[in-house]
Amino acid sequence: MTPVLIVGAGPVGLATACSLLRRGVPVRVLEQSDQAGQGSRAILLWRPALELLADLGLADDAIDQGLRPAALHYHVGDGVRVPLDAPNRPLLLPQDRTDRLLEEALHRLGCRVERGVRVTDVEIAGGSVTVKALGETGVESIEADWLIAADGVGSTVRQCLGIDFPGVRVPATFLLAEAHVSGDLDRTELHYWFGPRSALVITSLPGGAVRIAAPIPPDTPLTEATVQKLLDERGPRGLRLEQLIRISAFESQERIATTMRKGPCFLAGDAAHTHSVIGGQGLNLGLQDVRNLTWKLAGVVHGTLEPNVLDTYGVERRHAAEEVVRFTGRLMKLAMLGPRAARVRDLAFRTLQVTGVLRRRYAPVLAGWRVRLPPALLGDAVPRRAARLPRPGARTPYWTPAPQNPHDTCFRLLTLGPQNAPLPRRAADLAETLPGVLAHEHHPARRTRFLLLRPDGHVALSGRTTTALEEAEHLLNSLTRQTR
Ligand SMILES: Cc1cc2nc3c(=O)[nH]c(=O)nc-3n(C[C@H](O)[C@H](O)[C@H](O)COP(=O)(O)OP(=O)(O)OC[C@H]3O[C@@H](n4cnc5c(N)ncnc54)[C@H](O)[C@@H]3O)c2cc1C
Repeated sequence: MTPVLIVGAGPVGLATACSLLRRGVPVRVLEQSDQAGQGSRAILLWRPALELLADLGLADDAIDQGLRPAALHYHVGDGVRVPLDAPNRPLLLPQDRTDRLLEEALHRLGCRVERGVRVTDVEIAGGSVTVKALGETGVESIEADWLIAADGVGSTVRQCLGIDFPGVRVPATFLLAEAHVSGDLDRTELHYWFGPRSALVITSLPGGAVRIAAPIPPDTPLTEATVQKLLDERGPRGLRLEQLIRISAFESQERIATTMRKGPCFLAGDAAHTHSVIGGQGLNLGLQDVRNLTWKLAGVVHGTLEPNVLDTYGVERRHAAEEVVRFTGRLMKLAMLGPRAARVRDLAFRTLQVTGVLRRRYAPVLAGWRVRLPPALLGDAVPRRAARLPRPGARTPYWTPAPQNPHDTCFRLLTLGPQNAPLPRRAADLAETLPGVLAHEHHPARRTRFLLLRPDGHVALSGRTTTALEEAEHLLNSLTRQTR
């Protein structure tokens, strides 16, 4: 029997496969298409997605192939520039390159995508799952302990499992073009022109081309002339389209699956949620599903974690998906305001820039820092007097020392403070009792404190005292199956 079957070799399916294999869990990956995905689609990878690539040892290659934009530039009034400081700076990497990096990593881990194989039916029985897969040689019946549906927004698996995907269509059609342009354009920034009921976004791509995105009336011809007209009417004066590489139109929907787990089956990526592409969050959300699910599933497969840890996947990821759908929906509305409301928006933008709010609050939201987990698998919030510590559910703060073993797949218990204080000694003892689940690291500092970090980059608990550390012990004991 296959331990884990993954349906779909888009970025989410590939990352899931790599992440599980790296944790020693064998997988099979089925993909209906004969070829890897073409075209750029997702181009912005924010910090949480980069952390996943780092987990997989791919961050350096990805950064070498991509661009690091220095600012968001909103062309309203005299221009509103939002600098992207290091923790908020995304990587601009076309999705076909991300897919290629992931598939090469999969090969290095000894696994190949089974291409030209389409899943047509899924049945759960007796704690396992059986799929029917149609390939070159006919229909194969595959039984697996676990199934991860990463088969995109139209997910066959989701439909076969009878999971609803409620939501609405976003009432806008977008043109998406990749092209070479000449003229005055700062290639180090992401550019947004917002007019009344119109918008234009220009993003530089590695290799010198740009991506042009704009809402258009549904029957607009997809031609060079249309792109040039959009540049002239909505963009800066003087940009000339030199060579059109590709052009398409697309529509978005805002939908979240009613459940992300049914028995041994999980939904991840676009199969679980979809939203407006404005803000470039889709792939990032999917890759966080991967980070959330794979350590839990690997722990359960290896028998180190209690199976009920898997129930927290749906709770935590639904919460994150709802936040992203809400946020991107608001961005979309802001981009499409009528003339009077657009004037208020532009004024507000300038005020928020002058007061530094855009830099301090808006950029971190885009960069994924504000996504906090609900308390499904976290310790209690830190008491008020320790409130400077990151709270349970927050993302691992960017000032956290780099892991001593960057590819470790355990919880990280990080103690800071004098070496011979009781807290680091207790932490070291605790890690010794939980091999393979907890790794302890101590970093010298003036004040004593600890952070318990989950393998998916979220804070599980933080505190300053050995009493607070007992809560970490309690939390880990409730998750682990080890007899101690
Ligand atoms: C035009 C466009 C622009 C975008 N821009 C951004 C952006 O800037 N930033 C961002 O974060 N996101 C962006 N997105 C969203 C992003 O592309 C998706 O979120 C991402 O591709 C989701 O990855 P996935 O692996 O979940 O699904 P997909 O990439 O859709 O992969 C699903 C895979 O499953 C396969 N499959 C489907 N059914 C079956 C079956 N029955 N059997 C076997 N295989 C099957 C498919 O062939 C496909 O390869 C954009 C999307 C679009 C369309």
